[in-house]
Amino acid sequence: MNEDKQFSILVVDDEKSNIDVLNHILKDKYRLFIAKCGQSAVKVAHENLPDLILLDIIMPGMNGLEVLAALKQSKTTAGIPVIFITGQDSKETEIKGLNMGAVDYITKPFHNVIVEARVSTNMKIVEQMRIIRHMGITDELTGLPNRRYFNEQLTREWGRTIRETLPISMLMIDVDKFKIYNDTYGHPQGDTLLQAIAGIFKRSLKRPADFVARWGGEEFILLMPNTGADGAADVAERIRKNVEEMIIPCPNGEPTGTTVSIGVNSERPETNQPSDAFISKADRALYTAKESGRNRVCVYHENMGKKDY
Ligand code: GH3
Ligand code: MG
Ligand code: MG
Repeated sequence: MNEDKQFSILVVDDEKSNIDVLNHILKDKYRLFIAKCGQSAVKVAHENLPDLILLDIIMPGMNGLEVLAALKQSKTTAGIPVIFITGQDSKETEIKGLNMGAVDYITKPFHNVIVEARVSTNMKIVEQMRIIRHMGITDELTGLPNRRYFNEQLTREWGRTIRETLPISMLMIDVDKFKIYNDTYGHPQGDTLLQAIAGIFKRSLKRPADFVARWGGEEFILLMPNTGADGAADVAERIRKNVEEMIIPCPNGEPTGTTVSIGVNSERPETNQPSDAFISKADRALYTAKESGRNRVCVYHENMGKKDY
């Protein structure tokens, strides 16, 4: 029963007997983390990102309201729903807790079934939020991350790259003459081709940090943290070749194929350098690849000029 528990809960209480009861009620359905004081609750929440937190209020040191304030202050933990579960049954405290953003408030002594039901109701909301989030960041046709997700990832990785003074590379990939492919084989077959190319990306990326997304239409974008120009150009060439060699049969069995052009850009960003030019330079290199005959990889360099397309 325990193997694939989807959701996790952090239980915070300074009294062992309360933890034991909550553990008993919840352990079969959820993965549990336990914290016995406020400071440790904040730490465990950051490290494990539980889906829900059951938070006692009266604790020595940092109390539950202070814990909630700290969680709300950090971007990482601000979105985790918190249910107070407390012996503090004054209406003032309840109002304060709810106004600070707690999703529910249960007073001790609690009824096991009520705790279970309220946790379950809030977990259903967590589940719905997960589905909505997934839909918001995924391209429906290819199943790849979409442009929004890519931009979020770029912001994260760009910051990390600057902090750790590392190189970072990007590929901008565009299907060649895709309009003609669609016109020849039909739009649904064009969709199949985009899915097949997405499959190549999924198979050709070896490092967990590499991140590929559908940028729009027949354009894809690939981010490679901690990778210099040579490494990025190698990956680009491998992708170019894999696409060139791929045979995509039509429903009637007729074999079809395509090629891609790829622009590569690699940087070692400085503190406060924005990431906008990082993308536009990859785009510029892609334009050069198209201009010079398609089905090729071009690495950006400064004398490629500023012209955009
Ligand atoms: P180039 O080699 O210069 O890139 O030429 P191209 O024909 O690939 O470029 P163009 O931008 O002229 O045409 C892109 C085509 O991609 C037109 C558009 O209908 C098609 N397209 C964009 N998104 C999709 C999609 O989701 N499915 C299909 N089947 N076609 C798409
Ligand atoms: Mg194209
Ligand atoms: Mg295009």
